[in-house]
Amino acid sequence: MAGILILLGPPGAGKGTQAQRAAEARGWVHLSTGDLLREEVARGTELGQAAAAYMERGELVPDDLMVSMVAARLEGLEEDQILLLDGFPRTLAQAQALQERAPGGSIRLALYFTAPDSVLVDRLLQRGRADDTREVIERRLQVYREETRPLADWYRSRGILREIQADRSIESIQEEVLATIDSEFSKRP
Ligand code: AMP
Repeated sequence: MAGILILLGPPGAGKGTQAQRAAEARGWVHLSTGDLLREEVARGTELGQAAAAYMERGELVPDDLMVSMVAARLEGLEEDQILLLDGFPRTLAQAQALQERAPGGSIRLALYFTAPDSVLVDRLLQRGRADDTREVIERRLQVYREETRPLADWYRSRGILREIQADRSIESIQEEVLATIDSEFSKRP
């Protein structure tokens, strides 16, 4: 059966780095909705044009656009593939849409990355992406607290939330991420 692992957490927590490393180490599929959107923007597609204004302001791209983008990839998921969802879901509506579309029991874990705001802001400023200005970062953190952080409780109540303290070295976080996933998979193959 296909497995879905959700990486939840604020911007700058290192979800993308960890997802990429875990995917490389284990041959899993990494799906970053932020990366997909940036590609759409770069290619100037209709979706990219619709999304750009939200992204520049640090706002969320509307749920219907996000859900159809991810749903298309879920449909292409093969039987024994493991999908690392990085940056999705970010709202309750997205989480519910994922729940409805994911094959039964395939959502295995939500890894919840946490770090103090000061660490997040410093990391994002160093990264220097177009939406990594101080003002946009503040907005993204606010949107995260309001829209996305409540998902931690949602997944906790479903018994699949595991917290990862993300203000540590990339290597030690990676070790914990892989160990957490391995222990879950050994429980319920
Ligand atoms: P990220 O690379 O995950 O930081 O995403 C960059 C930007 O893309 C975000 O600030 C949002 O504007 C947009 N975005 C990415 N994923 C989502 C999502 N699941 N829902 C809404 N907007 C998203």
